[in-house]
Amino acid sequence: MANRMLIKNGCVLTMDESLGNFETADVLIENGNIISVGPNIDASDCEVVDASEMIVLPGFVDTHRHVWEAVIRNAGPDWTLPTYLNHLYFGGLGGVLRPEDVYIGNLLGALEALNAGITSLLDWSMINSPEHGDEMVRALQEAGIRAVFAHGTPLRGAGDYWHRESALNHSDDATRLKEKYFSSKDQLLTMGLAIRGPEFSSWESTLHDIKLARELDAICSMHVGFGSWGSADRSIEKMYNAGLLAPDLNLVHVNSISDEEYKMIADTGASVSVTPEVELMMGHGYPLTGKLTKHGGRPTIGIDVVTSTGGEMFAQMKFMAQAERSRINETVLARGEMPESLPMTAKDILHFATVDGARALGLEGKVGSLTPGKQADIIMIRATDINMTPMNDPVGSVTFSAHVGNVDSVFVAGKAVKRDGRLLNVDMDRIRSLASTSRDYIFSEYGVPEGAWPM
Ligand SMILES: [Zn+2]
Repeated sequence: MANRMLIKNGCVLTMDESLGNFETADVLIENGNIISVGPNIDASDCEVVDASEMIVLPGFVDTHRHVWEAVIRNAGPDWTLPTYLNHLYFGGLGGVLRPEDVYIGNLLGALEALNAGITSLLDWSMINSPEHGDEMVRALQEAGIRAVFAHGTPLRGAGDYWHRESALNHSDDATRLKEKYFSSKDQLLTMGLAIRGPEFSSWESTLHDIKLARELDAICSMHVGFGSWGSADRSIEKMYNAGLLAPDLNLVHVNSISDEEYKMIADTGASVSVTPEVELMMGHGYPLTGKLTKHGGRPTIGIDVVTSTGGEMFAQMKFMAQAERSRINETVLARGEMPESLPMTAKDILHFATVDGARALGLEGKVGSLTPGKQADIIMIRATDINMTPMNDPVGSVTFSAHVGNVDSVFVAGKAVKRDGRLLNVDMDRIRSLASTSRDYIFSEYGVPEGAWPM
């Protein structure tokens, strides 16, 4: 018998332009797939989930996150980008990580994401050995999240890898990992490659690594075009001229490139991950949002590093919208005028956080909107909570008022991972204990005297 579930009487935001939104509707799910969306669906033989007084929408898609960093959460609330890189990459903190540390970091980070309604993410990993990669994948599997596992380069000996003259190529371990875990695309975890790109390795290595990603049929992600070096290098133009920009390339940050280069990104459909809070904070530059949409491009949203910010999408949506509005408003004020309208609507931002994110991760056929035929990655947000009631504009409420505490239920491919505000089947005592033990080990090996963090 088919496994059927009816999410009933919710305010449904489908994020599908042709379906639109419903003040009150049902979502019928069968064997993990969405069968139909609409008012008063007549269905029998199914589990009924009461969604009255709830906003029902697709799970968020976080397109850029170093998931393992949950284990050193908030180590750097006041770090600049150079401080962050010096600790994790060049100072040696990343080098002391053992497989068990990245396992618990990934498990904790993935569960944190699910609890916040993020049902898909790209894990931009850093891998010190094959065992580290195995343990990171195991943790994502255990958490039950949908993810692109982007196989990365080592933090141990990072000085050899992470500079623009580095002729070291991406490890062949990526091929082993692909064969072991990602031979099928019909599963929650799919393959990506987290490469250093032209600003953290040589041009020849960049060419090699992009080719490797394409051989592995993997989304190829790189940090590029930001900080004080982003504008000087014209890396985007270089990749465009080499015919490399395409939808399977995921460009992270990209704050400080030329207007022509934003057009190149938009024209080729290469995807872009904006990580608004970290970029505003650490010195990457202003988030690119409107500079890309101006050319018809569609940015997506990433959380990036929980060493320095929270791990959920609500704050990032606010940072992204208001940073862009502030950027444009300042130009109006500079003319001695007041703004008459705002760039970026709440709806735009919610699209970036869901359906556009899914496209960036190559998952648009599976998730990102509540479209019949897609898999049921669905969240339910309580509209009766004090910060949500009375509800007048559900899209605005989700984008600008909601927080993790309002996330009542989370489903991944129709399977409940959070109900009634609590994660299901998670032993938090075990996770807290393993995470604390790992954190103590990492800081002590890194040479931080007990209680002396933050440095
Ligand atoms: Zn990053």
